[in-house]
Amino acid sequence: MGFGGARIYKTPDELRLMVRPGVVTAASLAAVRAAIRAGVTTLELDAIAERTIRGAGGVPNFMKEPGYRHTLCVSVNDEIVHGVPGDRVLQPGDIVSVDSGAEVDGWNGDAAITVVVPDPSRPELVAERQALADATEHALWAGIASLATARRLNDIGGAIEDAVDSRGEYGIIEDYVGHGIGRSMHEDPPVYNFRVRPSGPHVRPGLVVAIEPMVTGGGVDSHILADDWTVATDDGSDAAHWEHSVAVHAGGVWVLTAEDGGAAGLAPFGVVPVPIA
Ligand code: MG
Repeated sequence: MGFGGARIYKTPDELRLMVRPGVVTAASLAAVRAAIRAGVTTLELDAIAERTIRGAGGVPNFMKEPGYRHTLCVSVNDEIVHGVPGDRVLQPGDIVSVDSGAEVDGWNGDAAITVVVPDPSRPELVAERQALADATEHALWAGIASLATARRLNDIGGAIEDAVDSRGEYGIIEDYVGHGIGRSMHEDPPVYNFRVRPSGPHVRPGLVVAIEPMVTGGGVDSHILADDWTVATDDGSDAAHWEHSVAVHAGGVWVLTAEDGGAAGLAPFGVVPVPIA
C-alpha cells in the first residue's frame, strides 16, 4: 500500500467531493457494527459492508489494492490490521477491528472501528479489551482535535501518544501509520501516531488525512501471517485500531467518516466541527 504522489492540498471543490465517500464509508461500518455478534463469520460482515457501499453508489476501494478481493479488513484479537475476511467465526469476548473504505465518483473514504463481542462469562477479559478499544478511540479523537489547532501535521502524533499513555500501559504500533487520502485511498503525507522529529507539512485548508492509531495491550513488534496480509502482534497481545478520514477546510475541520462530522467525539476536547460549505 504505497503512497501516491498527488499534491496534498485539495481545492474547495475537491473537498466537497470527499463528503459523499466519507458518508458511505461510515454507513458501511454502522451496518457492520450492528451485525457483529458471536457466531457471525468475518466474510458475512464483508458482504454486509459491500452491499451497503454498492447500494449507495460506491465501490469498495480496498478491492483496488493489488491482490486484495474484499471490502473490509477484519482483524481479531492479536491481529492488528489487514485481516482478511473468511470463514472465521467470531467468538464471545473477541476484540474485532473492522476497516472499511468506499470510493464514490473517484474520491475515497477510509475508516475503522474496534468492537468487543459480549461475553457474560468473562467480564474481566471483556473489560480489559474494551479499555484497549476505548483508549485507541480516545487517542484517535485526541489526534483529530489537535489537527483543529495544529500548525504542522506531525503535532498530532504527540497528541495521540500522550492520549494513549494517559490510559495505561499500552503499545503504539510504529510500523503502520495513517496517510493522506483523496483520489487514491493512500496518498502523501504519512500521519504518525507518535512523536517524530520532523514537523511535517503545514496544516491548512485542503489537507485531508486518514488518522489511524493502532494500539496493543503489550508489545509493538508485529509479523505478517501466511496469508501475506494479516498483521499480528509478536507477543500475542490484543490489538485495537480506530480510524477516521478528516478534512481541514477554510471553516475548520470536518470528520468525513463520522455520521455527525465528529461532533460527539470532539466535544470532550472543546472542538466543534464545521461542515464543508
Ligand atoms: Mg487507512
